[in-house]
Amino acid sequence: MTTFRGAVLRERGLPRPYVESRPLEIVELELPDPGPGEILVKIGAASLCRSDLSVVTGARVWPLPMVIGHEAAGQVVAVGPGVVSLQAGDDVVLVYLPQCGVCDDCRRGEPWLCDVGMAANRKGELLTGGTRLTHHGEAIHHHMGVAAFAEYALVAAASAVKVPPGLPAKDTCVFGCAVLCGAGTALNTSGISSGQSVAVIGLGAVGLSAVLGAKAANAEKIVAIDRLDAKLLTAISLGATEAVLANEDTRARVLTQTGGGVDHAIEASGTKEGFDLAASLVRRGGTVSTLGLPAPEVFHELVLAPLVANGVTIRGSYLGSCDTARDVPRFLELYQSGRLPAEQLVSHHIALEDINSALDRLADGEALRQVIEFETAPLRRCAC
Ligand SMILES: [Zn+2]
Ligand SMILES: [Zn+2]
Repeated sequence: MTTFRGAVLRERGLPRPYVESRPLEIVELELPDPGPGEILVKIGAASLCRSDLSVVTGARVWPLPMVIGHEAAGQVVAVGPGVVSLQAGDDVVLVYLPQCGVCDDCRRGEPWLCDVGMAANRKGELLTGGTRLTHHGEAIHHHMGVAAFAEYALVAAASAVKVPPGLPAKDTCVFGCAVLCGAGTALNTSGISSGQSVAVIGLGAVGLSAVLGAKAANAEKIVAIDRLDAKLLTAISLGATEAVLANEDTRARVLTQTGGGVDHAIEASGTKEGFDLAASLVRRGGTVSTLGLPAPEVFHELVLAPLVANGVTIRGSYLGSCDTARDVPRFLELYQSGRLPAEQLVSHHIALEDINSALDRLADGEALRQVIEFETAPLRRCAC
Protein backbone atom coordinates (compact mmCIF):
# COMPACT_ATOMS: atom_id res chain seq x y z
CA MET A 1 0.00 0.00 0.00
CA THR A 2 1.36 3.42 -1.04
CA THR A 3 0.05 6.66 0.50
CA PHE A 4 0.48 10.05 -1.10
CA ARG A 5 -1.28 13.34 -1.87
CA GLY A 6 -3.66 13.93 -4.75
CA ALA A 7 -6.45 16.26 -5.90
CA VAL A 8 -9.96 14.78 -5.65
CA LEU A 9 -13.10 16.15 -7.31
CA ARG A 10 -16.25 15.27 -5.35
CA GLU A 11 -18.82 17.70 -6.75
CA ARG A 12 -19.22 19.07 -10.26
CA GLY A 13 -20.58 22.51 -11.17
CA LEU A 14 -19.25 24.48 -8.20
CA PRO A 15 -19.27 28.27 -8.78
CA ARG A 16 -16.38 30.48 -9.81
CA PRO A 17 -13.97 31.61 -8.59
CA TYR A 18 -12.56 28.14 -8.03
CA VAL A 19 -9.91 29.53 -5.73
CA GLU A 20 -12.82 30.06 -3.29
CA SER A 21 -15.21 27.17 -4.05
CA ARG A 22 -12.23 24.77 -4.23
CA PRO A 23 -13.64 21.93 -6.36
CA LEU A 24 -10.33 20.07 -6.09
CA GLU A 25 -9.35 19.03 -2.59
CA ILE A 26 -5.83 17.83 -1.81
CA VAL A 27 -6.15 14.70 0.31
CA GLU A 28 -4.15 11.63 1.33
CA LEU A 29 -4.80 8.74 -1.03
CA GLU A 30 -3.87 5.09 -1.05
CA LEU A 31 -2.92 2.67 -3.82
CA PRO A 32 -2.21 -1.06 -3.63
CA ASP A 33 0.82 -2.64 -5.26
CA PRO A 34 0.37 -3.02 -9.03
CA GLY A 35 -1.59 -6.08 -10.12
CA PRO A 36 -1.21 -8.06 -13.36
CA GLY A 37 -0.66 -5.75 -16.32
CA GLU A 38 -0.29 -2.66 -14.11
CA ILE A 39 2.49 -0.28 -13.14
CA LEU A 40 3.00 2.23 -10.31
CA VAL A 41 4.34 5.58 -11.56
CA LYS A 42 5.79 8.44 -9.56
CA ILE A 43 4.45 11.53 -11.30
CA GLY A 44 7.16 14.07 -12.16
CA ALA A 45 4.88 16.62 -13.79
CA ALA A 46 1.26 16.86 -14.88
CA SER A 47 -0.50 19.60 -16.80
CA LEU A 48 -4.00 21.00 -16.97
CA CYS A 49 -6.07 20.58 -20.11
CA ARG A 50 -9.47 22.01 -21.00
CA SER A 51 -10.93 18.51 -20.67
CA ASP A 52 -10.06 18.64 -16.95
CA LEU A 53 -12.08 21.82 -16.65
CA SER A 54 -15.03 20.18 -18.40
CA VAL A 55 -15.07 17.52 -15.65
CA VAL A 56 -15.09 20.24 -13.00
CA THR A 57 -17.88 22.25 -14.67
CA GLY A 58 -19.92 19.13 -15.48
CA ALA A 59 -19.88 19.82 -19.23
CA ARG A 60 -18.61 16.24 -19.40
CA VAL A 61 -20.08 13.94 -16.81
CA TRP A 62 -17.66 11.46 -15.29
CA PRO A 63 -18.20 9.25 -12.23
CA LEU A 64 -17.22 10.94 -8.97
CA PRO A 65 -15.34 11.09 -6.70
CA MET A 66 -12.40 11.15 -9.07
CA VAL A 67 -8.74 12.14 -9.18
CA ILE A 68 -8.69 14.12 -12.40
CA GLY A 69 -5.81 14.93 -14.73
CA HIS A 70 -4.82 12.94 -17.80
CA GLU A 71 -1.59 14.52 -19.10
CA ALA A 72 1.53 13.54 -17.18
CA ALA A 73 5.02 12.12 -17.22
CA GLY A 74 6.96 10.32 -14.54
CA GLN A 75 9.04 7.31 -13.61
CA VAL A 76 8.00 3.70 -13.12
CA VAL A 77 8.40 2.66 -9.48
CA ALA A 78 7.10 -0.90 -9.64
CA VAL A 79 5.54 -3.24 -12.19
CA GLY A 80 2.92 -5.94 -11.68
CA PRO A 81 3.03 -9.55 -12.88
CA GLY A 82 3.13 -10.02 -16.63
CA VAL A 83 4.46 -6.56 -17.48
CA VAL A 84 7.44 -7.09 -19.77
CA SER A 85 7.52 -3.84 -21.73
CA LEU A 86 8.41 -1.67 -18.72
CA GLN A 87 10.48 -1.93 -15.58
CA ALA A 88 11.19 0.10 -12.46
CA GLY A 89 13.30 3.15 -13.32
CA ASP A 90 11.88 3.64 -16.82
CA ASP A 91 10.77 7.17 -17.70
CA VAL A 92 7.27 7.23 -19.16
CA VAL A 93 4.70 9.56 -20.66
CA LEU A 94 1.16 8.69 -19.62
CA VAL A 95 -1.53 8.72 -22.31
CA TYR A 96 -5.24 9.26 -21.81
CA LEU A 97 -6.48 6.41 -23.97
CA PRO A 98 -5.05 2.99 -23.12
CA GLN A 99 -4.92 1.10 -26.40
CA CYS A 100 -5.70 -2.57 -25.77
CA GLY A 101 -4.07 -3.88 -28.96
CA VAL A 102 -6.60 -6.68 -29.51
CA CYS A 103 -10.03 -5.10 -30.14
CA ASP A 104 -11.35 -4.63 -33.68
CA ASP A 105 -10.30 -0.96 -33.73
CA CYS A 106 -6.75 -1.72 -32.62
CA ARG A 107 -6.40 -4.67 -34.99
CA ARG A 108 -7.74 -2.59 -37.87
CA GLY A 109 -4.86 -0.17 -37.28
CA GLU A 110 -6.99 2.55 -35.69
CA PRO A 111 -5.98 2.25 -32.02
CA TRP A 112 -7.00 5.87 -31.34
CA LEU A 113 -10.56 4.56 -31.47
CA CYS A 114 -9.88 1.63 -29.07
CA ASP A 115 -13.35 0.81 -27.82
CA VAL A 116 -12.11 -1.21 -24.87
CA GLY A 117 -9.94 1.66 -23.62
CA MET A 118 -12.77 4.14 -24.10
CA ALA A 119 -15.22 1.92 -22.20
CA ALA A 120 -12.81 1.70 -19.22
CA ASN A 121 -12.31 5.49 -19.33
CA ARG A 122 -16.05 6.17 -19.33
CA LYS A 123 -16.41 4.11 -16.14
CA GLY A 124 -13.50 5.92 -14.47
CA GLU A 125 -11.70 2.59 -14.26
CA LEU A 126 -8.39 1.16 -15.42
CA LEU A 127 -8.04 -0.93 -18.57
CA THR A 128 -7.28 -3.82 -16.22
CA GLY A 129 -10.76 -3.41 -14.68
CA GLY A 130 -12.06 -1.56 -11.60
CA THR A 131 -10.58 1.24 -9.53
CA ARG A 132 -7.49 1.10 -7.32
CA LEU A 133 -7.40 4.55 -5.70
CA THR A 134 -8.88 4.92 -2.22
CA HIS A 135 -9.27 7.68 0.36
CA HIS A 136 -9.58 6.21 3.86
CA GLY A 137 -10.89 3.07 2.16
CA GLU A 138 -13.46 4.84 -0.07
CA ALA A 139 -13.11 4.01 -3.79
CA ILE A 140 -11.97 6.92 -5.98
CA HIS A 141 -12.24 6.89 -9.79
CA HIS A 142 -9.35 7.39 -12.21
CA HIS A 143 -9.67 10.11 -14.87
CA MET A 144 -9.03 8.54 -18.28
CA GLY A 145 -7.01 5.72 -16.80
CA VAL A 146 -4.37 8.16 -15.54
CA ALA A 147 -5.57 10.30 -12.55
CA ALA A 148 -2.57 12.55 -12.97
CA PHE A 149 -3.04 15.26 -10.31
CA ALA A 150 -1.41 13.17 -7.61
CA GLU A 151 2.08 12.22 -6.54
CA TYR A 152 1.61 8.64 -7.72
CA ALA A 153 -0.55 6.90 -10.30
CA LEU A 154 -1.33 3.23 -10.72
CA VAL A 155 -2.13 2.64 -14.37
CA ALA A 156 -2.48 -0.14 -16.90
CA ALA A 157 0.82 -0.65 -18.69
CA ALA A 158 -1.01 0.38 -21.90
CA SER A 159 -1.54 3.85 -20.37
CA ALA A 160 2.23 4.46 -20.36
CA VAL A 161 4.78 4.85 -23.14
CA LYS A 162 8.47 4.39 -22.38
CA VAL A 163 10.53 7.43 -23.35
CA PRO A 164 14.29 8.11 -23.51
CA PRO A 165 15.78 8.52 -20.01
CA GLY A 166 16.51 11.92 -18.53
CA LEU A 167 14.13 14.13 -20.49
CA PRO A 168 12.48 16.71 -18.19
CA ALA A 169 8.99 15.59 -17.13
CA LYS A 170 7.89 19.25 -17.07
CA ASP A 171 8.34 19.24 -20.86
CA THR A 172 7.39 15.68 -21.75
CA CYS A 173 4.09 15.68 -19.82
CA VAL A 174 2.40 17.69 -22.60
CA PHE A 175 3.08 14.84 -25.03
CA GLY A 176 0.33 12.83 -23.30
CA CYS A 177 -2.53 14.96 -24.64
CA ALA A 178 -1.76 18.38 -26.19
CA VAL A 179 0.95 17.15 -28.55
CA LEU A 180 -0.83 13.92 -29.47
CA CYS A 181 -4.04 15.82 -30.26
CA GLY A 182 -2.56 18.90 -31.97
CA ALA A 183 0.60 17.70 -33.70
CA GLY A 184 -1.12 14.34 -34.28
CA THR A 185 -3.94 16.05 -36.15
CA ALA A 186 -1.43 17.92 -38.32
CA LEU A 187 0.81 14.94 -39.02
CA ASN A 188 -1.65 12.02 -38.96
CA THR A 189 -5.28 13.08 -39.45
CA SER A 190 -4.62 15.89 -41.91
CA GLY A 191 -1.53 14.29 -43.39
CA ILE A 192 0.11 17.62 -44.19
CA SER A 193 2.98 17.28 -46.64
CA SER A 194 5.94 19.47 -47.35
CA GLY A 195 5.03 22.69 -49.16
CA GLN A 196 1.31 22.60 -48.37
CA SER A 197 -0.79 25.32 -46.78
CA VAL A 198 -2.63 25.02 -43.45
CA ALA A 199 -5.04 27.13 -41.42
CA VAL A 200 -5.40 26.47 -37.68
CA ILE A 201 -8.48 27.94 -36.00
CA GLY A 202 -8.35 28.31 -32.20
CA LEU A 203 -4.95 28.78 -30.58
CA GLY A 204 -5.11 27.12 -27.20
CA ALA A 205 -2.32 24.67 -26.40
CA VAL A 206 -3.82 22.05 -28.73
CA GLY A 207 -4.22 24.49 -31.65
CA LEU A 208 -0.68 25.76 -31.09
CA SER A 209 0.51 22.18 -31.02
CA ALA A 210 -1.13 21.77 -34.44
CA VAL A 211 0.90 24.81 -35.58
CA LEU A 212 4.05 23.05 -34.33
CA GLY A 213 3.00 19.88 -36.13
CA ALA A 214 2.38 21.78 -39.37
CA LYS A 215 5.83 23.35 -39.08
CA ALA A 216 7.42 19.97 -38.40
CA ALA A 217 5.67 18.73 -41.57
CA ASN A 218 7.36 21.59 -43.50
CA ALA A 219 4.11 23.29 -44.43
CA GLU A 220 4.89 26.36 -46.52
CA LYS A 221 2.04 28.54 -45.26
CA ILE A 222 0.65 28.20 -41.73
CA VAL A 223 -2.22 30.61 -41.09
CA ALA A 224 -3.05 30.97 -37.38
CA ILE A 225 -6.51 32.33 -36.50
CA ASP A 226 -7.88 33.38 -33.11
CA ARG A 227 -9.93 36.13 -31.46
CA LEU A 228 -7.04 37.20 -29.20
CA ASP A 229 -4.00 39.16 -30.42
CA ALA A 230 -1.78 37.64 -27.72
CA LYS A 231 -2.44 34.12 -29.02
CA LEU A 232 -1.67 35.22 -32.58
CA LEU A 233 1.70 36.54 -31.40
CA THR A 234 2.43 33.22 -29.69
CA ALA A 235 1.52 31.35 -32.87
CA ILE A 236 3.93 33.49 -34.90
CA SER A 237 6.68 32.79 -32.37
CA LEU A 238 5.99 29.05 -32.79
CA GLY A 239 6.26 29.15 -36.58
CA ALA A 240 2.94 30.35 -38.03
CA THR A 241 3.64 32.34 -41.18
CA GLU A 242 0.47 34.47 -41.02
CA ALA A 243 -1.72 35.52 -38.12
CA VAL A 244 -5.31 36.57 -38.72
CA LEU A 245 -7.73 37.94 -36.16
CA ALA A 246 -11.05 36.07 -36.24
CA ASN A 247 -13.73 38.50 -37.43
CA GLU A 248 -16.05 39.00 -40.39
CA ASP A 249 -13.09 39.66 -42.74
CA THR A 250 -11.16 36.52 -41.85
CA ARG A 251 -12.33 34.36 -44.72
CA ALA A 252 -11.63 36.99 -47.41
CA ARG A 253 -8.18 37.70 -45.95
CA VAL A 254 -7.15 34.06 -45.79
CA LEU A 255 -8.42 33.29 -49.29
CA THR A 256 -6.41 36.23 -50.59
CA GLN A 257 -3.29 35.27 -48.65
CA THR A 258 -3.44 31.67 -49.83
CA GLY A 259 -4.51 32.20 -53.42
CA GLY A 260 -7.98 30.68 -53.02
CA GLY A 261 -7.86 28.52 -49.91
CA VAL A 262 -5.64 26.22 -47.88
CA ASP A 263 -4.89 22.54 -48.45
CA HIS A 264 -5.79 21.73 -44.83
CA ALA A 265 -7.90 23.50 -42.22
CA ILE A 266 -7.68 22.37 -38.59
CA GLU A 267 -10.53 23.34 -36.28
CA ALA A 268 -9.30 23.50 -32.68
CA SER A 269 -11.73 26.00 -31.15
CA GLY A 270 -14.47 23.53 -30.28
CA THR A 271 -17.16 25.82 -31.69
CA LYS A 272 -19.63 25.60 -34.55
CA GLU A 273 -18.37 28.97 -35.81
CA GLY A 274 -14.81 27.65 -35.83
CA PHE A 275 -15.89 24.62 -37.84
CA ASP A 276 -17.79 26.79 -40.35
CA LEU A 277 -14.75 29.03 -40.75
CA ALA A 278 -12.47 26.01 -41.24
CA ALA A 279 -14.78 24.57 -43.87
CA SER A 280 -14.91 27.92 -45.69
CA LEU A 281 -11.11 28.21 -45.90
CA VAL A 282 -10.16 24.99 -47.69
CA ARG A 283 -9.48 24.91 -51.40
CA ARG A 284 -11.37 22.50 -53.63
CA GLY A 285 -10.14 19.02 -52.76
CA GLY A 286 -8.93 20.21 -49.36
CA THR A 287 -9.29 18.59 -45.95
CA VAL A 288 -11.02 19.86 -42.83
CA SER A 289 -9.94 18.16 -39.59
CA THR A 290 -11.91 18.88 -36.46
CA LEU A 291 -10.56 18.15 -32.99
CA GLY A 292 -12.08 20.91 -30.86
CA LEU A 293 -14.78 18.72 -29.25
CA PRO A 294 -17.79 21.05 -28.83
CA ALA A 295 -20.41 20.47 -26.13
CA PRO A 296 -22.38 17.26 -26.79
CA GLU A 297 -25.58 19.14 -27.68
CA VAL A 298 -23.98 21.27 -30.44
CA PHE A 299 -25.72 20.39 -33.68
CA HIS A 300 -24.68 21.25 -37.24
CA GLU A 301 -26.45 21.12 -40.58
CA LEU A 302 -24.25 20.76 -43.66
CA VAL A 303 -25.08 21.89 -47.17
CA LEU A 304 -24.14 18.74 -49.07
CA ALA A 305 -23.91 19.85 -52.71
CA PRO A 306 -20.75 21.99 -52.35
CA LEU A 307 -19.19 19.27 -50.24
CA VAL A 308 -19.59 16.91 -53.19
CA ALA A 309 -18.82 19.39 -55.94
CA ASN A 310 -15.70 20.68 -54.18
CA GLY A 311 -14.44 17.22 -53.19
CA VAL A 312 -13.82 18.34 -49.63
CA THR A 313 -12.92 15.78 -46.94
CA ILE A 314 -14.12 16.32 -43.36
CA ARG A 315 -12.39 14.25 -40.69
CA GLY A 316 -12.93 14.00 -36.97
CA SER A 317 -9.63 13.71 -35.10
CA TYR A 318 -9.65 11.87 -31.78
CA LEU A 319 -6.26 11.65 -30.07
CA GLY A 320 -4.74 13.09 -33.26
CA SER A 321 -5.28 9.68 -34.91
CA CYS A 322 -2.27 8.51 -32.90
CA ASP A 323 -0.96 5.07 -32.15
CA THR A 324 0.53 6.14 -28.84
CA ALA A 325 3.31 3.53 -28.76
CA ARG A 326 4.42 4.69 -32.20
CA ASP A 327 3.74 8.42 -32.01
CA VAL A 328 4.92 9.48 -28.54
CA PRO A 329 8.52 8.37 -29.34
CA ARG A 330 8.21 9.81 -32.85
CA PHE A 331 7.08 13.21 -31.59
CA LEU A 332 9.71 13.16 -28.81
CA GLU A 333 12.39 12.65 -31.46
CA LEU A 334 11.15 15.83 -33.14
CA TYR A 335 11.26 17.58 -29.73
CA GLN A 336 14.81 16.36 -29.06
CA SER A 337 15.96 17.63 -32.45
CA GLY A 338 14.40 21.05 -31.77
CA ARG A 339 11.70 20.67 -34.43
CA LEU A 340 8.79 20.32 -31.98
CA PRO A 341 9.50 22.73 -29.10
CA ALA A 342 6.56 21.54 -27.01
CA GLU A 343 7.91 23.30 -23.91
CA GLN A 344 6.66 26.50 -25.52
CA LEU A 345 3.09 25.30 -25.01
CA VAL A 346 3.58 25.84 -21.26
CA SER A 347 2.66 29.20 -19.75
CA HIS A 348 2.81 28.42 -16.02
CA HIS A 349 4.68 26.09 -13.66
CA ILE A 350 2.77 25.57 -10.41
CA ALA A 351 2.59 23.47 -7.26
CA LEU A 352 -0.22 20.98 -6.60
CA GLU A 353 -1.63 23.31 -3.92
CA ASP A 354 -2.25 25.99 -6.59
CA ILE A 355 -4.49 23.77 -8.68
CA ASN A 356 -7.77 25.61 -8.01
CA SER A 357 -6.24 28.95 -9.06
CA ALA A 358 -4.99 27.16 -12.17
CA LEU A 359 -8.58 26.13 -12.96
CA ASP A 360 -9.58 29.82 -12.80
CA ARG A 361 -6.78 30.78 -15.20
CA LEU A 362 -7.87 27.98 -17.54
CA ALA A 363 -11.52 29.10 -17.43
CA ASP A 364 -10.46 32.71 -18.08
CA GLY A 365 -8.48 31.65 -21.15
CA GLU A 366 -5.37 33.22 -19.61
CA ALA A 367 -3.18 30.15 -19.72
CA LEU A 368 -1.71 27.73 -22.19
CA ARG A 369 -0.58 24.57 -20.45
CA GLN A 370 -0.04 24.95 -16.69
CA VAL A 371 2.36 22.31 -15.44
CA ILE A 372 2.23 21.00 -11.89
CA GLU A 373 5.76 20.10 -10.87
CA PHE A 374 5.81 17.57 -8.06
CA GLU A 375 8.49 17.85 -5.45
CA THR A 376 10.42 14.69 -4.84
CA ALA A 377 8.01 12.88 -2.58
CA PRO A 378 9.48 9.82 -0.85
CA LEU A 379 7.48 6.66 -1.34
CA ARG A 380 5.64 6.03 1.91
CA ARG A 381 4.47 2.58 2.68
CA CYS A 382 1.90 1.69 5.32
CA ALA A 383 2.79 -0.80 8.00
CA CYS A 384 -0.41 -2.73 7.23
ZN1 LIG B 1 -6.44 16.73 -22.60
ZN1 LIG C 1 -8.28 -1.75 -28.54
